[in-house]
Amino acid sequence: MDKEKINYFIYARKSTEGEDRQSLSIPSQIDDDLKIQAREGLVVVDTITDSASAKIPSNRPNYSTMIKRIKQGRASGIITWRVDRLARNHLEWGELMYLLQTGVIKSIWTTQREYKSSDSALLIALEASMATQFSIDLSIIVKRGLEKKVLLFGQPPIIARVGYLNTKSNERGTNSIIVDPQRWPLMRKAFDLILTRRYTMLQITSILNNEYNFRTRSSSKRPGSPLAVSVLHRAFTDPFYAGYFHYKGKLHKGSYKPMITLEEFDTIQEILGRKEKAKSHKHVFAFTGLMRCGWCGFAITASKKLKKIKTTDEYKTYSWYHCTKRKGAAACPDKHYIPEKAMEKMIIDELEKISIMPKWKMWVVETIKLDYDDELQKQQELLANTRNCERKLQKELDTLLDMRITGDLSEEKYNEKKVERTMQIIRVQEKCNRLEGSIKSWITEVEKILDFTENIVERFKIGDAYVKKSICEYIGRDWVLKAKKLMFTRHEWFYDIEALKNHYQQEKDRLGLMETFEEYRQTASFDFVRTIGCGLRESIRTQNKTKEQETGQRSP
Ligand SMILES: [Zn+2]
Repeated sequence: MDKEKINYFIYARKSTEGEDRQSLSIPSQIDDDLKIQAREGLVVVDTITDSASAKIPSNRPNYSTMIKRIKQGRASGIITWRVDRLARNHLEWGELMYLLQTGVIKSIWTTQREYKSSDSALLIALEASMATQFSIDLSIIVKRGLEKKVLLFGQPPIIARVGYLNTKSNERGTNSIIVDPQRWPLMRKAFDLILTRRYTMLQITSILNNEYNFRTRSSSKRPGSPLAVSVLHRAFTDPFYAGYFHYKGKLHKGSYKPMITLEEFDTIQEILGRKEKAKSHKHVFAFTGLMRCGWCGFAITASKKLKKIKTTDEYKTYSWYHCTKRKGAAACPDKHYIPEKAMEKMIIDELEKISIMPKWKMWVVETIKLDYDDELQKQQELLANTRNCERKLQKELDTLLDMRITGDLSEEKYNEKKVERTMQIIRVQEKCNRLEGSIKSWITEVEKILDFTENIVERFKIGDAYVKKSICEYIGRDWVLKAKKLMFTRHEWFYDIEALKNHYQQEKDRLGLMETFEEYRQTASFDFVRTIGCGLRESIRTQNKTKEQETGQRSP
């Protein structure tokens, strides 16, 4: 219907990480997409691709740009190889769902079928893709009894997951996957913890890193680091640990020692709320695992209660949040049971503080970008200077060598000077890398947070339990429930955005009719926002710095 009115983007993505290794290459994905376009006679306005490097797995700039262009009305359809090319986490999934429900995206074509905005099948498909295609493929194949088929030609070249190692023989076809004696027991511990149904992904990560001192394998390029939540999340949904892996589009049984049984794998998928969600009968609480009791410090949990509605005599289930009272009722005076609706209301009140109208958000970005251009230039000059300095040091090193060869310099003196210069070069190179990093990152960070605040209240309202929890985790940490009040430590940027929101709220009448950014630039509001923009940028910078220190990946 109305096919000719919909403009499509083709979107292809492949990352070099984990299970995505098994996906089609970007050119092959685009080939498939073009076949769909030709077959259905669709109008394609642009082709967009992302290939995330293993170094920055969360970086997907072109996807964000595509979503932005869709919001601007440049296209309202996407052609993609599989839906799992689109959403990768619950926040992205929530946004995509919102765009579909509001009809901003009207159609998504995949190799299998078309999904339309009114179509609940897409929601289910997206949900399933979140669980990775694996568990679904796995159950089908197991049912067919194909799991007994072992590859005849030894172990295919797949990368060992955390907890395993690849042997490094030079002879082809003789390599295998073996147990990593150091990390295997820790990963098994992680599986045990999730199977208790009592810990969130974040808690398990923290237990592994802090109580068991988990560190990834170090290499010559990188020292070992604590386990990242994303890695653990992938592990829990990866059939590799149950002894199965994807290779060339098919699921195979590995000849290595599985860490968990298939039953355990299935149970974990269920605990992660995937399978049952498609069938949708079991209730998942959004805020458990997120909050602690403000009196005794133990976790807040939820329970369901049947309540009779007096007017209709019907029973309805309600969810209530309350303290787990692990220490016993005597240790905790809090007897309140907070209805889910009241919890949501308190969070929505918080989200309202940072929800900014799209037009104003756009102006903020434009304003900040003006300063960014100046700074970009300054930073680039600084970078060029630093590079020059590096070259000069290299040259000095060459001269020293010449002097050593001609005998003008003693061996001892030469070595001393060489060490000195080399250390200087290393320091200068580090500075170059830092400069390059900071030039690129902060403006995208600012945009990411501002994008996040767009329609945040609506996305929270229609989002499922996972979207709701993700949003909470995104805006702050250390959530506490005490005396029916919800408290949490807001990220620094929260206050800057709140200040922006308050400002625009006050200036609403004056700015309401204004259309263009050029007009806006002449106002006092522009100068004000410019100042807040600086603060916002600093907040994000400090937050990133703390994050780096916490994960110990890089020291400033
Ligand atoms: Zn308590």
